[in-house]
Amino acid sequence: MVIDAHAHMFTMSMSEGMLPKNFDIKNIPKEFINASKHTIKENTDAWINAMDKNGIEKTIFMANVNFNKDFTAFINSSSRFVGFAKINPTKPDAIDTLKKEIENGMSGVKLYPTNEGFNVGSKEAYQFYDYCEKKHIPIVIHFGVTIGFRADLINGNPLTLSTVLTDFPGINFVIAHFGAGFFRETLMLRYKRQNLYVDTSGTNNWMQNQDNFLTLKEVFKKSIEVFDDQHIIYGSDTRIFPAGYRENILKEQTNILKELGLKMEAVENIMHNNAKNILLTHF
Ligand SMILES: [Zn+2]
Repeated sequence: MVIDAHAHMFTMSMSEGMLPKNFDIKNIPKEFINASKHTIKENTDAWINAMDKNGIEKTIFMANVNFNKDFTAFINSSSRFVGFAKINPTKPDAIDTLKKEIENGMSGVKLYPTNEGFNVGSKEAYQFYDYCEKKHIPIVIHFGVTIGFRADLINGNPLTLSTVLTDFPGINFVIAHFGAGFFRETLMLRYKRQNLYVDTSGTNNWMQNQDNFLTLKEVFKKSIEVFDDQHIIYGSDTRIFPAGYRENILKEQTNILKELGLKMEAVENIMHNNAKNILLTHF
C-alpha cells in the first residue's frame, strides 16, 4: 500500500481565496475554473476511486487557504483523507489559527514562505514552533520555485531553516519537491540533522532551472545517499480535476526506485512507512 503525502483539492471558494485582493473574477484562467468547479462530493468520490485503483491507503492534502468550509468538509468526508493547515508561523495569531484548524480536523502544518514572504528562521516564528514541538505536529514546507510568479525566492531558500532544525529537534520538517530548485541547499541542510525529510512530489519541473542537468533518477539516487530511505516521502502533488490522479508520477517514481535496485523494505519506507511514522502521528 501507498501513502500519498502531498496532494491538493480545490473548489471555487478555495481558488477565489487564493487570488490577490481586487482581482477581477472575470480574469480567472479557464484551467483554474476547470480544476475548481466540482462539488465536495465529486471530489471525495473521484479521490476514493483513484486511491482504490492505485493502491493508496491515505492521502495528505495541503491547504492553500485557511478555515475554508469546503476543504474542511472534504477532509472530514473520509478517514482516508488527512489535512494539513496553511499557516504563517510569524503571525501573532499563528497558534490560535492552528488550534482552530486542528479542531476542524487538520493534523499538520504547511508553510509557504516563498509565496507569503516570511522567513522560516525568524524568531517571530519560535513560539509557534515551540507549540508544534510540544504537540508533535509535523511541518511541511514549500521552498523554492513552482509556486507563482509573485514568489520571493530569498525566503524560498531552505538554508533559512538551518538553526530552526537544531533549536527544535523534536519537530519533523519535510521539504516538499526535493527543495523545488534548491536541491543543493536541501542536501546541505541534511548535514548532521536528523529531523529533516524530503517529499518527492510533483512533476519536479524545477529541474529545468538547474545548472547541473540532473535527471529525476539522479535526484532520487543522491537523495537516498544523503537522506537515506527513512527520510524520503512519496507524494504526487495531484489535483484530481480535470486530469485525474497523476498515475504517471506514481509509475515513474516507483520505476526509478526499482531501477536503483532498492530493497523492498526501502521502497516501502519511501512509499508508505515514512509518511505513516512522520506525518500521520497527530491523531
Ligand atoms: Zn503542492
